Amino acid sequence: MRTRSYAQAATMPCFQCSQTFEIEVWLIVDAVERPDLVEAIHADTVHTVRCPHCGTEHPLDAPLLFHDGTLETLIFAAQAQTEPEQNNEVAQQLGQQLIGTLPLEERAPYLTKARMVVGIDGLRQALEGTEDSDDVSVALRALMEASTPQEVAAAVRDHQLLAVPDVQVQLREYVVQLRDAGHPDVADALDQRLAALPPAPLHPTLRLIQALLDADGPEARQSVLTAHPVDVTPEVAPILEALAQQSERSGLHPVARDLLVMRDEVLHMIDHQG
Ligand SMILES: [Zn+2]
Repeated sequence: MRTRSYAQAATMPCFQCSQTFEIEVWLIVDAVERPDLVEAIHADTVHTVRCPHCGTEHPLDAPLLFHDGTLETLIFAAQAQTEPEQNNEVAQQLGQQLIGTLPLEERAPYLTKARMVVGIDGLRQALEGTEDSDDVSVALRALMEASTPQEVAAAVRDHQLLAVPDVQVQLREYVVQLRDAGHPDVADALDQRLAALPPAPLHPTLRLIQALLDADGPEARQSVLTAHPVDVTPEVAPILEALAQQSERSGLHPVARDLLVMRDEVLHMIDHQG
């Protein structure tokens, strides 16, 4: 069977002792097949060769196509010294070669377009980014294993990502995807656990607006504004104005008038923040 990972054999002269030696240059790394090479990427040694005669290490400037089928990740790390058109060509060639080694059922659309980075350093950073999203899958697994509200609360304590609003949005989208993919039981189970999650903390802007609406009169509002100077951002005024227009349309004229007064107070405060 042909391996997915691929190295090109070459001969190179040592700049230190001038003797030549055989090397293998890794051009395709399949993460599932070669975890040792993934480690070499993280250690930045995947494109370093050692002269067997004198032990001198030679860093190579070579391209590398990285594939991880479990994460559906395809990243092309271009050579540092090269032209963009040449990169696209090499990325395509290596991509075709990789696809040729995959069974038909694994030839998914993500394989047609590799994410481009420069150098092994760029690849390593990109992989660290994917590891972040992998943490979401770890948190998701912990959430699915929780069967009581207490266990859900414990999962949130252990995996604080579950309390991040964007992550919760992502998981809600995942419920829809599960249903569409014909897994209604798993979708329902996840949906129930998401409902048991503590509410995500309100965005600071909305929290500030809520506090302004709750405040009793202009002086109370002024103290809300001075108590939260960092939350008084330029986006607060247009949001208040939009709320005022909405109230106006709903016939709530006094509310609309109050909201416009608040908007002016906020604008006044922003002007004086310098
Ligand atoms: Zn040497």
